[in-house]
Amino acid sequence: MTKHLYQTDSYLREFDAVVTAVDGQAVALDRTAFYPGGGGQPHDLGLLTWDEGSSAVTRVKKQGDTVWHTLDGDAPPTGTPVHGVLDWGRRYRLMRTHTALHVLCGVVWRDYGASVTGGNMDPLKGRMDFEFETMHKELVTEIEANVNDEIEKCHPVHVAILPREEAFEIPDLIRTKINLLPPQIQQVRTVEIEGLDLQADGGTHVANTREVGRVRVVDYKSKGAINKRIYIELDEEA
Ligand SMILES: [Zn+2]
Repeated sequence: MTKHLYQTDSYLREFDAVVTAVDGQAVALDRTAFYPGGGGQPHDLGLLTWDEGSSAVTRVKKQGDTVWHTLDGDAPPTGTPVHGVLDWGRRYRLMRTHTALHVLCGVVWRDYGASVTGGNMDPLKGRMDFEFETMHKELVTEIEANVNDEIEKCHPVHVAILPREEAFEIPDLIRTKINLLPPQIQQVRTVEIEGLDLQADGGTHVANTREVGRVRVVDYKSKGAINKRIYIELDEEA
């Protein structure tokens, strides 16, 4: 089992760990800052170094509680101490993008009562799907203005890990279908943009909306009468 350092410190870009298992070119570590992907956020990339070598990390995935890091060369044996370094430029852009999507969710829920059904992102680009029957072209400008308004309010972003029963009593979480979480998940990680949005979420986010920078709502598509997909883009720098 791997200690998931990214869950409590999303700003950690380097860490020391030990190889606990090897499977071909993939290694499991006792602790990692590499995000294994999930919730629409892609896995991290980066570098693993050890005494006799180093290798790029090309893929990261979670299997149960264990995080596997696929290397582009030969894996060091079990027991090897390693040093991990994230591709921080890419990860930080994903954190900004992920947080921007939560601001979008919060605004769309508050202003139009539309709930989110899914989402996906690349660095500086993302999309979210909503049950949003009344979405139309003219709303794009309005949503964009309100999203940027909220970003400029510099809302702090809080992460918490709660017992399942406690999380199930929070009305904002119930609306995001937290009840669909499998019963074996006993702890729920929540991400809150103070005053705007609260979700059960495993991803990495920035600590304050000011780090997101300007967001453009670039497009939207109807995926049927009710389901609408909204696309956003971020500036290179906040
Ligand atoms: Zn999220």
